[in-house]
Amino acid sequence: MSTTKPPHIALLPSAGMGHLMPYFRLAVMLAKRNCVVTLVTAQPTVSAAESDHISSFLHHNPEINHLELQLTPSSQQADSAPVDPFFLQFDLISQSIHLLGPLLSSSSLPLSAMFVDFVLLAKTAPIAKDLHIPMYAVSTTSVQFLSLMAYAPVLASNLTEFNTASTEIKIPGLPPMAMSSIPPALLDPSHIFASIIVANAQALPGAEGILMNTFEWFHESMLSALNKDRVMASLPPILPIGPLEPYHIPRDGDHFYRSWLENQPSESVVYISFGNRTAMSQDQVRELEKGLEKVGWRFCWNLKTTKVDKDDHDDVEDILSDIFLKRTKNKGLIIRGWADQQEILAHPAIGGFVSHCGWNSMMEAAWQGVPVLAWPQHGDQKVNAKAVEEAGLGLWERDWDWGLDRIVKGEEIERKIVELMTDEKLREGARKVREESRKAVESGGSSDRVLNNVINSVVVPF
Ligand code: UDP
Ligand code: UDP
Repeated sequence: MSTTKPPHIALLPSAGMGHLMPYFRLAVMLAKRNCVVTLVTAQPTVSAAESDHISSFLHHNPEINHLELQLTPSSQQADSAPVDPFFLQFDLISQSIHLLGPLLSSSSLPLSAMFVDFVLLAKTAPIAKDLHIPMYAVSTTSVQFLSLMAYAPVLASNLTEFNTASTEIKIPGLPPMAMSSIPPALLDPSHIFASIIVANAQALPGAEGILMNTFEWFHESMLSALNKDRVMASLPPILPIGPLEPYHIPRDGDHFYRSWLENQPSESVVYISFGNRTAMSQDQVRELEKGLEKVGWRFCWNLKTTKVDKDDHDDVEDILSDIFLKRTKNKGLIIRGWADQQEILAHPAIGGFVSHCGWNSMMEAAWQGVPVLAWPQHGDQKVNAKAVEEAGLGLWERDWDWGLDRIVKGEEIERKIVELMTDEKLREGARKVREESRKAVESGGSSDRVLNNVINSVVVPF
């Protein structure tokens, strides 16, 4: 009888809660399956939410090992154009990656594999090679957006053609994508986002597989085209292992939103959140106030007006108008700062979710079967919105465009929220998505099998 020892897997996330949360979940899922897990995090982090959650996660999950990659400060000139601090951080982590080899070698147990964020692949590949271990990519977006990123090197070499007349991008073998859904930064060769995506897409073929927070049913035809028909032949297999199971987040005292939600009728509240790194403009805040004031539904609004939480010093009263606060006192709750979204979405009072379509949020909505009103703001979010609409989990008003390009009027918001909260077909669709998501992760389900196969393939016999 052959014996094996548990695999030791290093996890390397990049920056932002949207790219950290999935690793916490994955770490717990792997540890439950008897893997030894080492989480490598970059220091300092961009947001306070990241550093707070790293300490709390490690404190409550002592079985997870931790290594810190110390970053050298950015050399960005004070007078140069401001760059998204999260993009700068991807770059900074990549520049410090030479420290990763020695750091990993300091671990007493030899490594069996590395699971690495898509944006760090190119720089990490040589280290995995030196250590003679397989490297898996972790992609935190929809399969549709991943395919677009994988195609980015082709786009980059044909930019004039794509930028002029095209209304669609046609990746051979896949459904066309509307040009209006492509983040403009991806089509701008001088943009840091485009250079990061292109460089790392070129490293994708070197990965053993691409772990994704989704499930077979949700992306069936895309997965069939990519994995079975091999329409992008250089791509390694896409490995849907989601929805990543919510891990236990200890309660940080008795936050007021808990008691507020307890007092609301079932499915009566619309939850509004644009994730952890999307600021809403003052003009848009005014219009959302108008919509929420008029709409007949209760609301819970997770309000963020800065990209990085450390910069957010305003109180509710500094941002929202007195009149709005007075008129909605009995039907609305404003949250400032971090709130446990997985817990909010799980609450029976929540009947709909107005979301920017960050992919973690979408898989959390799928898991809970909460219908989504898609309001994509930037990045992968329009492509994600379409995937959510196609799966029957959400509505998307394309006219609303990107967050920065259009202020959506209060009346339009009101109309769409009514649709979100009253559309029975959508509610039924969301319930079906919930059912399928749970089947995927149960023992023997599609995502469970994929993850177990990955673990078995990195197990070391002895
Ligand atoms: N999140 C949360 N509370 C907040 C803000 C965000 O729990 O106040 C979580 C949310 O549930 C999700 C992640 O942070 O797991 C944000 O990731 P997503 O991909 O949805 O959006 P991003 O912040 O990356 O734009
Ligand atoms: N991306 C990634 N890792 C990162 C940051 C970005 O793989 O650390 C990819 C990913 O596909 C993501 C897309 O780039 O969804 C758009 O990134 P952005 O940071 O604009 O959006 P977010 O995912 O934070 O909502």
